[in-house]
Amino acid sequence: TDKLHIIGGGMAGSEAAWQAAEAGLQVVIHEMRPKVGTFAHQTGLLGEMVCSNSFRSDDSEQNAVGLLHWEMRAANGLIMAMADKHRLPAGGALAVDRDPFAESVTAVLRAHENVTVEEGEITELPRDGHWIIATGPLTSGALAEAIAAETGADALAFFDAIAPIVHFESIDMDRAWMQSRYDKGETEEERTAYLNCPMDKHQYEDFIDALLGADKTEFREGETANYFDGCLPIEVMAERGRETLRFGPMKPVGLTNAHAPTDKPYAVVQLRRDNKLGTLYNMVGFQTKMKYGAQTDVFRRIPGLENAQFARLGGIHRNSFINSPRLLDAQMRLRSQPHIRFAGQITGVEGYVESAAMGLLAGRMAVAEMLGRPLPPPPETTAMGALMTHITGGADARTFQPMNVNFGLFPPVEGLKGGRRGRKDRYKAYTDRAKADWQGWLES
Ligand code: FAD
Repeated sequence: TDKLHIIGGGMAGSEAAWQAAEAGLQVVIHEMRPKVGTFAHQTGLLGEMVCSNSFRSDDSEQNAVGLLHWEMRAANGLIMAMADKHRLPAGGALAVDRDPFAESVTAVLRAHENVTVEEGEITELPRDGHWIIATGPLTSGALAEAIAAETGADALAFFDAIAPIVHFESIDMDRAWMQSRYDKGETEEERTAYLNCPMDKHQYEDFIDALLGADKTEFREGETANYFDGCLPIEVMAERGRETLRFGPMKPVGLTNAHAPTDKPYAVVQLRRDNKLGTLYNMVGFQTKMKYGAQTDVFRRIPGLENAQFARLGGIHRNSFINSPRLLDAQMRLRSQPHIRFAGQITGVEGYVESAAMGLLAGRMAVAEMLGRPLPPPPETTAMGALMTHITGGADARTFQPMNVNFGLFPPVEGLKGGRRGRKDRYKAYTDRAKADWQGWLES
């Protein structure tokens, strides 16, 4: 009979394997460790957490990642069950005792009658059968080359260069305005693609001082490569000269301040709409290695962003990921080779929980296909569905960068108050709706 083959036994591969095995399919996990290592993994265990030991917030009423926990628990998720089993006290966060966690994930999968683990690196794309590629941010070089040969080299990135993403509702539109440079664009959608925050000379000089003085993260050993090509961190640009940014990403040309048409801004920070819903905007050219705390301090100095809420902060990391909006269909299959699905961080989600979540979905979708029972994609109103919809089509393929789950990916709930006070009610409304819809999807 047909087997489901999974390449990579990390967060996503382990969860996908569990879901398929529990549904009665024979599963083979192909894991290269311990034979072949990565710069971050330390063991040969399945489900190894490579850095922090946190699954982030466990609040399923007010937090999108907490909601994702809830949805995975409701779907018999292995990664969540093992995280709960090895939970460490950490207030509202779900911290995990990493070694016993990975040991348990490994033991449960190896003991499952439907699972086999084959050690060794896969270096080529499989020609037939049913496959899930879940090789993560540190996909081995040979397999990455094979993927690039299939998808085109420009559709596989080796680094992410993430500019911060801001919730639209937190931007002060009495200061910022919408306009594309030189008023390019014909449709309403194109004209609202950019949002601008003006600075006068004094504000600009202060901002440069703040950038130069901010705390930065160093690259880890083995992590650096030629990241400088095309994605220079903003603070490195500032180090090259105080005027560099004003002639680069912050150039004020082709723009008129809608609130003060005769005041020519000295510099302008542009944000570009990051999703179809228009709930998220990304800061153009603002990829950075500043520490998270420093980023919020520095970026809230920008006029219009004083109260900015960040859906994600910036970063630059070693990270292999594909251009999912272009390459994957709504069943997470490679359009050009539909016998191959992708799951986990390589699809352009970010984080342990998000990676496991995409493994859960890919596993279930593979099961449905192999058993001849088509599975509709999960509703966009759920955390699972919102994240999957984002990577498979909601995000702009031209500027696609990895994403954490956040409420900005959800279709808005109508009829609720805006602002800080309304936010609590709104998040509760999102999570109530998500839970009901996720239960409905699981039952169907
Ligand atoms: P992984 O968990 O990495 O699993 C992929 C597996 O595939 C690995 O076991 C690998 O050995 C195997 N593999 C790769 N290539 C092959 C091949 N050719 N053949 C066979 N097997 C192969 N996320 C957080 O939430 N918090 C953090 O603190 C955090 N820190 C990170 C630090 C670093 C340095 C990196 C690189 C990432 C970090 N992440 C973090 C991001 C990410 O969420 C995790 O890497 C997560 O483990 C991704 O899950 P995954 O299943 O997609 O990949």
